[in-house]
Amino acid sequence: MPKGLTRAAPKKDAPKAVTKSAADDAIRCDACPVLCYIKPGRTGSCDRYGNHEGKLVRLDPHVVLDRAVERGESVVPFLERSRDWDGTLVSHGETFVTAIGAGTTYPDYKPAPFIISSQVEGVDMVTVVTEGIFSYCGVKVKIDTDRHLGAECSAVRAQGEVVGHVTTSEYGSQMLSLGGVRHLTGGSRHEGTATCETLLDLCNGNAVDLKIDGGASVVVQAGKPPVVDGVQEERMRVGCGSATIGMFAKQWFGKVDEVVVVDDHITGVLSEHQAGKLLGVRETGIKLKGRRSTPGRYFQVAEPGTSWGGTDVDDPLTILGKFNSKKAWPGLRLLMVSTTGEQHAYFELDDDLRPHEKELPPHLRESVARIKGNCEPALCTVLFMGGAGGSLRAGVTENPVKLTHSVRDALTRVTCGGSPVYVWPGGGITFMADVTRMPRNAFGYVPTPALVAPIEFTLKLADYAALGGYIENVRPLSSILRSRAGSEPPARDQFVHDAKGPRHITARPDNPWPLAAEKDVPNTRKKK
Ligand code: SF4
Repeated sequence: MPKGLTRAAPKKDAPKAVTKSAADDAIRCDACPVLCYIKPGRTGSCDRYGNHEGKLVRLDPHVVLDRAVERGESVVPFLERSRDWDGTLVSHGETFVTAIGAGTTYPDYKPAPFIISSQVEGVDMVTVVTEGIFSYCGVKVKIDTDRHLGAECSAVRAQGEVVGHVTTSEYGSQMLSLGGVRHLTGGSRHEGTATCETLLDLCNGNAVDLKIDGGASVVVQAGKPPVVDGVQEERMRVGCGSATIGMFAKQWFGKVDEVVVVDDHITGVLSEHQAGKLLGVRETGIKLKGRRSTPGRYFQVAEPGTSWGGTDVDDPLTILGKFNSKKAWPGLRLLMVSTTGEQHAYFELDDDLRPHEKELPPHLRESVARIKGNCEPALCTVLFMGGAGGSLRAGVTENPVKLTHSVRDALTRVTCGGSPVYVWPGGGITFMADVTRMPRNAFGYVPTPALVAPIEFTLKLADYAALGGYIENVRPLSSILRSRAGSEPPARDQFVHDAKGPRHITARPDNPWPLAAEKDVPNTRKKK
């Protein structure tokens, strides 16, 4: 931030747009529909732009990525390398201009703030970058836990407002769908604001408190373990109850007579399961409550909950009926275990065929430990999902549908802050990006409310010309880097950046390099 400029208070207390006329030295920002008038020394409502000595300044540094010299090599801070930068680096595709801090294309007909040329293996390329204003956006959250967070379709609240809903349970995880245009724009002002703040925090890697109607409270932070009802989750399940039986049947054979793996979805029973049958496990006369799906696989043995295997069961015997006296025998050894191995209990039948809990024998401890050991650490995953709409596409070409077709034909590569995205098949440019693969604090917001996310389109210069791109606005990468030496900031006429120039960070070595030749990028869709 330029010296002397006062950054606005944190976003909750951010000043409202100044509505005075330009006569009092306020300048108007037109980077989004709010159209703030900003007084000297102050920032606009979104805290992204400010009035510095009469100039509209984009406050956050513009981020460029420098390629790690070799994959797997420890990262080298850019500033160490930059001292002897001689300008040749930029012509070899080793520096990538992200849209983080680049500024926004608004209103829609203007060219994107930066349209940068580069050369990759002798081919002229162009990267069009803009901070997109996404009214149509949200996050898909994957929470690794067996614990029941809430019924499907239950509302998810933040700050007391509904900001999304519970969607499907996946293998060892539960999914939330948060945000979307309806919560951002279709409810009360506070619902929209709460939704926007929740999305912003999640996308920028901050922890968010969520409450699910009729379910749990959960603290979600990308790349960190979830905290469910105040308890930090440690591991996700090794598999469903049936799969766990299959995986460990051989290790139990001969050491115990019966095993039940308790699971909210598919509880497994060793003696009835195909794995047990093939090994020759003797029938035990065990009886389970719930609905038998196929041999050794039971649904709905209990209600969903936060205990054994994501059920509400604290005493595993409550899911058993009476043993069949024609098949069971006194002394029968029974192991009951959850899908994470966190809960386990060992029983032996007495003369009346009633189970009595005993200490877990040493020869079974190993198998329980192995279940635990096969469980991966529980994490929260946050995928940003957005649709590149009018302003974004019109900032790339005067004929926006051509960009859509170019992305679909894999002529144009889409990245989000230099990180890979998955573009959904079908119409439009709807994409998802893992926020943990992006530079931190890559996202912003505007109080319309909408999220501001970086997006870059990279394609051959010739293809760019063919789709009606703004060729006259293409500039070399060196024109940005030059500003580091204190020359005139080269940003769009509408606003300036901090004259220190862009902020360089080293690209994650596990991300595909956004300027890599197509053959070097795994899973690149080939042009049909
Ligand atoms: S909210 Fe931000 S981007 Fe929008 S007009 Fe105000 S300062 Fe500019």
